[in-house]
Amino acid sequence: MALIVQKYGGTSVGSVERIQAVAQRVYKTVKAGNSIVVVVSAMGKTTDGLVKLATEISPNPNRREMDMLLSTGEQVTIALLSMALQELGQPAISMTGAQVGIVTEAEHSRARILHIETTRLTRHINAGKVVVVAGFQGTSSAGEMEITTLGRGGSDTSAVAIAAALGASFCEIYTDVPGILTTDPRLVAEAQLMDAISCDEMLELASLGAKVLHPRAVEIARNYGVPLVVRSSWTDQPGTWVTSAKPQGRSLINLEIARPVDHVEFDTNQAKVALLRVPDKPGVAARLFGEISRQKVDVDLIIQSVHEGNSNDIAFTVTTPILKRAEAVATAIAPALRSQSNPKLEEAEVMVEHNIAKVSIAGAGMIGRPGVAAKMFATLAEAGVNIQMISTSEVKVSCVVDAAQCDRAVLALRTAFEIEAGEQGSRGAGESACIDSPLPLRPSAPLPNCPLVRGVALDLKQARLAIRQLPDRPGMAAKLFGLLAQHNISVDMIIQSQRCRVIDGVPRRDIAFTVSQMDGESAKEMLIQVAAELGWGEVVLDSAIAKVSIVGAGMVGQPGVAAKMFEALAQQQINIQMIATSEIKTSCVVAQEQGVKALQAIHTAFGLAGSEKFVVPA
Ligand code: ASP
Ligand code: MG
Repeated sequence: MALIVQKYGGTSVGSVERIQAVAQRVYKTVKAGNSIVVVVSAMGKTTDGLVKLATEISPNPNRREMDMLLSTGEQVTIALLSMALQELGQPAISMTGAQVGIVTEAEHSRARILHIETTRLTRHINAGKVVVVAGFQGTSSAGEMEITTLGRGGSDTSAVAIAAALGASFCEIYTDVPGILTTDPRLVAEAQLMDAISCDEMLELASLGAKVLHPRAVEIARNYGVPLVVRSSWTDQPGTWVTSAKPQGRSLINLEIARPVDHVEFDTNQAKVALLRVPDKPGVAARLFGEISRQKVDVDLIIQSVHEGNSNDIAFTVTTPILKRAEAVATAIAPALRSQSNPKLEEAEVMVEHNIAKVSIAGAGMIGRPGVAAKMFATLAEAGVNIQMISTSEVKVSCVVDAAQCDRAVLALRTAFEIEAGEQGSRGAGESACIDSPLPLRPSAPLPNCPLVRGVALDLKQARLAIRQLPDRPGMAAKLFGLLAQHNISVDMIIQSQRCRVIDGVPRRDIAFTVSQMDGESAKEMLIQVAAELGWGEVVLDSAIAKVSIVGAGMVGQPGVAAKMFEALAQQQINIQMIATSEIKTSCVVAQEQGVKALQAIHTAFGLAGSEKFVVPA
């Protein structure tokens, strides 16, 4: 007998008939010998309707009252579903978040869960009842016991948190799609359903999967090792398992806010090769990394900075033992990569740095918290460590620094993020979840294999900002990203140019990064204001960009994966404006109008295309 948490989304409970169908499914699962806690969303588009009502009364409704209003949607569903179960002869009881004791921060409309009381839940479960819990809501603990909500789409988070608190066997998320697809089927007709995906991969694919599964739910599943499956409530298809490594006995107190960073990692066995002034045209990265992969050289980080004039800088890191080979390839190819603007003078220049180290912070908790990366940069600045390269992903920030400063950097970061020395030994975010996933005992559950690339995502909602001529000294990244964090602006890719120019006696570099399009203009305004005062150069905004990313835990240690992506783009004559990588992800920024074409080409190149058609409801 298993304890299962089932969550049903809005469409799955959108009508009386649907609620009755859900009751049938719950009833069947109970009859098969399981105990069930059901978490439900508001019926259909109820929440949207309530939001609309509020805005008709106030353009800027009070957030406390908003929570009072929105939390009513789920309360309707729990009562109706309980009745439907009782009609089937199944004892059931509905409970609001407050009645269960889902204790959250006092932060209205975006509260994070602190703790879940299990006593009442357990008592009803033991009495043979199905407990139907209102998703998306909780109560603040201090004093007033206010009703809070977790943010739109938050019922997934309620469900996984309850599963973690109860130590449930697994959590099923029932929705109106058959599971997680390899890419967006509205853009790529050949998108395929995945059998399984690790939480880390899912988090990195946030822009693809966020609509299907709340990223905070994935974060909790990962931190507590809750097996999770996304399935259609209309069929009996197995859906997609979202797997995670074995839990490490993490405390259930401060469930969602405990620690944004789990690990501080470092690797001193790294060297950097940079090619400066390569032409800014399609096919260059493909040629370089194609040749590198034919030499079986596995590159770790790759970054390509925003171009200045007509040329780009591309830099990558490799482990020290293969540096010679990597350097030989780069040197051999450099003469062929001439800038078009000035073919005689400007030959690509190869720059090698032997003594570098990569230090990283990793943790699912950094998602949507712009302050975390900023704190890393500030910590390094305070320790007097200069950052040579920055590479970011959803759950990791890595900085390349001088090897001689590595120890100092790691110590400072461990102190700042309260990580015990012993704890860094555990493996990085990307590497954990493929082999040792505790897949639930289900005959239909496939074992997760690790394809090179699991999925491909396109993000058309980003904008790129570049700041020219930032002084190259410790503290500049801290200053810049600290400012953005203060304005609550999350930064995605960050790329520092490799070439350094001395202007007014100060060595300077360009830095480029992407933010959400929504934040583009205000970030630019804000940065222009400080630029003059801080002696920075021009601030440039480009909103017409697209970011396409490949994600797969199988790409760790495999040469040639990035090269294949670049090659697919080159074949379509698509120019790559920026490149950034992490262990399990490679992202390229291209022109916005080429985004969809880029996505399709890459999806096909990795053999993800299939023949089954998936229709996704609007
Ligand atoms: N009903 C809430 C919303 O629409 C929560 C949820 O469905 O997950 O955002
Ligand atoms: Mg949802």
